[in-house]
Amino acid sequence: MITIREYDLETLKATLKDLGYPAFRGDQLFNWVHHRGVATRDEMKNIPLALRELVQVKNMTLATRQVSEEDRTQKLLFQLEDGHFVETVLMQYRYGNSICISTQVGCRMGCAFCASTIDGLKRNLTAGEMLGQVYEANTLVTEKINHVVLMGSGEPLENYEEVVKFLRIINHEKGYHLSLRNITLSTCGLIPQMLRLAGEDLPLTLAISLHGASDEVRSSLMPINRKYPVKELMEAVDYYILKTHRRVTLEYAMIRGVNDAPEQAHLLRNLLEGKLVHVNLIPVNAVAESGFFPSPEKDIIKFKSILEKKGINTTIRRELGSDINAACGQLRNSYHPTKVEIVQRH
Ligand code: SAH
Repeated sequence: MITIREYDLETLKATLKDLGYPAFRGDQLFNWVHHRGVATRDEMKNIPLALRELVQVKNMTLATRQVSEEDRTQKLLFQLEDGHFVETVLMQYRYGNSICISTQVGCRMGCAFCASTIDGLKRNLTAGEMLGQVYEANTLVTEKINHVVLMGSGEPLENYEEVVKFLRIINHEKGYHLSLRNITLSTCGLIPQMLRLAGEDLPLTLAISLHGASDEVRSSLMPINRKYPVKELMEAVDYYILKTHRRVTLEYAMIRGVNDAPEQAHLLRNLLEGKLVHVNLIPVNAVAESGFFPSPEKDIIKFKSILEKKGINTTIRRELGSDINAACGQLRNSYHPTKVEIVQRH
């Protein structure tokens, strides 16, 4: 069975050629799945029946769908073909629909504040499973999803090949044709892969999860910092900016009494002064197991003002969907029922 979502256009054509079909059948199948977004093979009216029987569209089913009472954010739980589950978050803003997709089932990065890592890593997602999250979610909204963030479960740069394949397919002009400028990839800071990504000619927005400006604070929250410490990470950020001319985002979860002191803000300011960056301060979201609490608003404002005094562009992120555990760091690879729920079974 050929799962069309897993194929870039060239590979799809080559695969069909091997099966004795002309290359244009590849164009047609790609168009049906990646451009027109059909849900079933029966809708592909111009494809011969024998070929239709060799292909499949869907590679996941929507298991549950929860809708936030506060802001209409939806959390979707998909079941993959091997039985694993992944979560995806669909956000509706004034300027359009945005989706936060997972790149791995679980995660092995071990960040102290994040729910996605609690049960470890199960496996990488394929490019087709990342596309599937976007395409399936798209069937639930009237306006096409026009922003994608790779900020769900998993570390995207640990799944480098499939993530880059996903990016190239979703950007393909004969497919979904999403602008790379509308995509944000967030990483905990895997330096070798960041350097490699800088050379891919993919004008997306790179976001780095920093969460601490000294090695002491950052290592206490993010084990990866012991391998790739702050100074080296900043050098990699410099290289990325030099190579791509793209502004890099730094994410900083504000955790009460842990990383929110003015001294951390001063260190952060020293690290970032003069760089083409934007800082996103996120009051840490509750994860039952972690025992962390968000910083008081006045401390966040103080932190922000220390950065802004040196001209560092800083925003405080408004979190969506926290009443359904759909906010940053709250995604898991298992089903945790919360308040409002629409259960759909296919
Ligand atoms: N592995 C990638 C992407 C997934 S996490 C990364 O580390 O960037 C997406 C963002 O949510 C990261 O910035 C992450 O640090 C942040 N995050 C995780 N848990 C959080 C929490 N409890 N509150 C706020 N942000 C959190």
